Amino acid sequence: MRDNNSAPYWRQRRTVPGFGPGCGDREETLLAPPRRAVGRPARFFTVHLGFTAAEPSVARELAVGYAEALSLLRPELAIGSAALSPADAWHRAERLFCGALGPDGERCADVAGHPGFHHAPGPGGLGWGDGD
Ligand SMILES: [Zn+2]
Repeated sequence: MRDNNSAPYWRQRRTVPGFGPGCGDREETLLAPPRRAVGRPARFFTVHLGFTAAEPSVARELAVGYAEALSLLRPELAIGSAALSPADAWHRAERLFCGALGPDGERCADVAGHPGFHHAPGPGGLGWGDGD
């Protein structure tokens, strides 16, 4: 199996010495090596998981369960960015979690559209807002 570190042969760029006027007698190249000594900074990516459900409300419940379970197994996941969409309409994605910003910069970890106070993640997390 091929890993992500090996670029296909058609994507590899090579510097060619002496490419230009007086071709062959110059050492400088037109293609320079990358200026960054280290790799690119980490960026966000999205994983799309497919499953079946009888109706959208059931699908939302299952999706929240999948997102919470994955976030327990892999804490580096940004659970607040979890979204649900029909399989053939990713442009209709709905947020699964509230994500309201709290007074200390934390985000509400409850489901989107929840009643009552917002709650920071974790047991005993801060609650804020206009609850009943
Ligand atoms: Zn909330």
